[in-house]
Amino acid sequence: MQDCIFCKIVRGEIPTSLVYCDDEIVAFRDTTPQAPTHVLVVPRRHISSLNDLTAEEMPLLGKLLQVCREVAKKEGVFESGYRIAVNTGPDAGQVVEHIHFHVLGGGPMNLEIG
Ligand code: 5GP
Ligand code: ZN
Repeated sequence: MQDCIFCKIVRGEIPTSLVYCDDEIVAFRDTTPQAPTHVLVVPRRHISSLNDLTAEEMPLLGKLLQVCREVAKKEGVFESGYRIAVNTGPDAGQVVEHIHFHVLGGGPMNLEIG
């Protein structure tokens, strides 16, 4: 999608700190980290949110989670613990409308719900 910031990152049009990439998935550091490790894992294909994922695209979720786990290993938080967050829609605070998994770790985290 032309104006989507994460599509621009995927296309290499915006400089980013890349952590992982393959033919389907790209992972890069969040510019406003909420934890010592804060990486965003996104599909190359533009999908606006979890709500927009089709039944055929469901296998992509498994791949995204697999990459999250690899990122946790790479970042050294695999054993110490990490959180994966997928904000969906306005009430959840989704700002960028290109589905992304936050991988957060590197220290104790408060779980704030609601
Ligand atoms: P959301 O609130 O949509 O779940 O998360 C969007 C995330 O993208 C935020 O944590 C924000 O800091 C991050 N972000 C927004 N713009 C950019 C950018 O241009 N580059 C990177 N690396 N992260 C971004
Ligand atoms: Zn996009």
